[in-house]
Amino acid sequence: RTDATYQLVGRQEILPLYRPRLKFSHKGTYGHSMIIGGSYGKIGAVQLASNACLTTGSGLVTVFVPECGYQSLQSAIPEVMVLTDEDERNISKITLPFVPDVIGIGMGIGTEEKTAKAFGNLLKEMKAPMVIDADGLNILAKNPKMLKDIPKNSILTPHPKELERLLGKWNDDFDKLEKAKAFALQHDVVLVIKGAHTIILYGDKGFVNTTGNPGMATAGSGDVLTGMITGMVAQGYEPLHAAIFGVYLHGLAGDICASQQGYEAVKASEICKMIGRGFMEIL
Ligand code: AMP
Ligand code: MG
Repeated sequence: RTDATYQLVGRQEILPLYRPRLKFSHKGTYGHSMIIGGSYGKIGAVQLASNACLTTGSGLVTVFVPECGYQSLQSAIPEVMVLTDEDERNISKITLPFVPDVIGIGMGIGTEEKTAKAFGNLLKEMKAPMVIDADGLNILAKNPKMLKDIPKNSILTPHPKELERLLGKWNDDFDKLEKAKAFALQHDVVLVIKGAHTIILYGDKGFVNTTGNPGMATAGSGDVLTGMITGMVAQGYEPLHAAIFGVYLHGLAGDICASQQGYEAVKASEICKMIGRGFMEIL
C-alpha cells in the first residue's frame, strides 16, 4: 500500500500559495511562456492553451505551431506571438530563438515520427521546465527512452487513457496510485492525474483537488489546464504549487461556468473566460 499521505485541497490550502502582483512590476516580472503544439485541424488546442496561459497571468506568451496555424492564431489572440515550424501541417523541427521560462507542450501536436523526433531533441537541448500534456505524453509512452531527458521541475498532466499508456494497465485504484507514485519518483516529475477528483503526486506527497464538475468533461478542457499551469510556472510558482493551484483554479473556473449555464453548455473557451473570476473568488 502507498505510504503517501493525501491532502485535500480547498481554498485554505490555495490562499497561502498565492503570489500577489507587485505594484512596481512589468511584464518581464511575470515570465515568458512558450506553448508548443498543434497540427493541421488541431490548432484550436494551442489557441486554448495559450489564451489560458495569458489569462492566468504569464507576462508574455509565444506559441510555436506548424505553418498552417499562423493566420488563425494571429487573428484569434492578438496578445500572443507566433513562431512557425517549416512544415505546413506538423511540427518537425523545433528551433527556439530564445530560452523561455517554461514550455507547455503536446496539445494537438500529434504523434508523427518527425514530431516525436523534434520533441526528443527539444528534451535533450532545453533546460526550461516543461508542462507536458496530451500527445506529448503519448509520444513519451511510445518512446520511453525519452523519459530520462525530461527537464528538472517538469509537470505531466495525463488524463486516464494517457496515464495508462505511460504506466501500463493497473489492477485497482490503489495499484494505480502505487504505480503513478513510483513513476513520479523515478522521473522526478510532478504528476497530475486528471479526473473528477484530480490527484497531484510529487515525491512522497499527494494532493486531491476539490473543485470541478462533469461539465468540464468536454473538448479542450485539459488544454486550458495545461496553459494555466504553464502560466503559473512562468510567474515563479514552484512546480508543485503551480500544479495544485492551477488544478484548483481550473475547477473553480469550470464551477463558475456551470453555475451560470448548467453542465452541458460548459465549453473550454468559457472555462478560460472565468479564470479571472476564479482568482477573485479565492482572494
Ligand atoms: P482532457 O481530457 O485532457 O481534456 O482533460 C479534462 C479536464 O477536465 C481535466 O482537467 C479533468 O480533471 C476535467 N474533468 C473531466 N471530467 C471531469 C469530471 N467528471 N469532473 C470534474 N472534472 C472533470
Ligand atoms: Mg487532453
